[in-house]
Amino acid sequence: KNHTKQEIMEIAKEENVRFLRLMFTDIDGVIKNVEVPISQLEKALDNKMMFDGSSIDGFVAVEESDMQLRPDLSTWLIFPWDTEYGKIARLICDVYNPDGTPFSGDPRSNLKRVLKEMENEGFTEFNLGPEPEFFLFKLDENGEPSHRLNDHGGYFDLAPTDLGENCRRDIVLQLEELGFEIEASHHEAAPGQHEIDWKYADAVEACDNIQTFKLVVKTIARKHGLHASFMPKPINGVHGSGMHFNMSLFNKDGNAFYDEADEMGLSKTAHEFIAGLLKHAKAYTAICNPTVNSYKRLTPGFEAPVHIAWSASNRTPLVRVPTSRGMSTRVELRSVDPSANPYLALAVLLKAGLSGIQENKVVADPIGKNIYQMSSTELGEQDIERLPATLYEAVSHLKKDSLMREAMGEHMYNNFITIRTQEWIEYNEQVSPWEQKKYFKR
Ligand code: ADP
Ligand code: GLU
Ligand code: MG
Ligand code: MG
Repeated sequence: KNHTKQEIMEIAKEENVRFLRLMFTDIDGVIKNVEVPISQLEKALDNKMMFDGSSIDGFVAVEESDMQLRPDLSTWLIFPWDTEYGKIARLICDVYNPDGTPFSGDPRSNLKRVLKEMENEGFTEFNLGPEPEFFLFKLDENGEPSHRLNDHGGYFDLAPTDLGENCRRDIVLQLEELGFEIEASHHEAAPGQHEIDWKYADAVEACDNIQTFKLVVKTIARKHGLHASFMPKPINGVHGSGMHFNMSLFNKDGNAFYDEADEMGLSKTAHEFIAGLLKHAKAYTAICNPTVNSYKRLTPGFEAPVHIAWSASNRTPLVRVPTSRGMSTRVELRSVDPSANPYLALAVLLKAGLSGIQENKVVADPIGKNIYQMSSTELGEQDIERLPATLYEAVSHLKKDSLMREAMGEHMYNNFITIRTQEWIEYNEQVSPWEQKKYFKR
């Protein structure tokens, strides 16, 4: 895994790699890449690749635009599919300023910064196991994505209802080839909806894996005449797509969330981490659910969270603690959706959790019931608040949260708020088919 420069040069030669993609992620979570012919490999490995940062959303102004790409050699891989141009490899990069300091607008470098704070608290790893869900739609005659679903299966259904099965199987095989340890792959609750889960990893690697995963899913779906959509709520009236974040902190003794002696098997650290997660939930919702569409998913009845509370196994509140203990003890945050920037989301969640630990916060009791069915009086009595209902509301909470500003760094915090606000204004100016239907004839 940890290749040297020399090893990479040798592999590239042996495998006859023709192109190299230098990848990084912008503030919106979109993968960007600069592709160079393999003749530029050595230059890239020597951190000599520059690119124009001003053309990337939320990066920098034109005056200071020469950004440097520093490839992380452990991310070297050759894509397993054939192209008519020969083999293509990729390296994920950190973005640096022209003066050689990490660029504060780079979500991946920012996550590394927050991880250093975690190490100062005595933890060694922050593990993430994501559960991304997605829909498969048919491509039309012109190869453009259509709104026609690929199948009408339901949760855990098998073929012949599940026509996505072959496509999903192909995706799993390609991912395995890339070193993913696939733990589960199944049809999800909505028609055309799927989920693939793989083994958790330490923070940065886990986020890199999410980005690679999306690229693989989209590429392979296309080969099957399908379009993979990671939109949080693509269809009215059925489940949306989440990307639950299973998280745990490890220290030198193992999983710091596990405590055999506790009634629930959860350590004081785990309780405090959950308390921190609940406290900052309204503000980080803007980051974990960054699109207008995200909020169409966060509604009752579809296994997506609406209320800020936690539970032992019930799937209705924001945080759930799955039953496994020992090394698998983890906290599942159920609000995150696949439109989130994983690096940015993980940085703010770690910061929120750590603040709970630093402040020795006491968490409220877990909720045992279906929270969708609790009355507003009941919710009020237990001080259970709602998650923000719109992007606008979420951003207004983010604006008031100084811990989140620290977690994102000034540069990204400000840019993120500007971009989201702009998106909200644009949305608000649209007249939707729903409105036309509802009000046109009144
Ligand atoms: P669910 O019960 O919500 O369906 P899954 O079993 O599908 O959950 O998801 C399990 C995810 O949690 C996998 O990605 C798995 O690797 C991950 N996981 C297991 N142990 C840990 C841990 N200690 N820390 C973080 N993630 C973990
Ligand atoms: N699709 C649901 C969501 O929007 C989650 C279903 C599940 O628990 O896997 O979060
Ligand atoms: Mg699921
Ligand atoms: Mg889950």
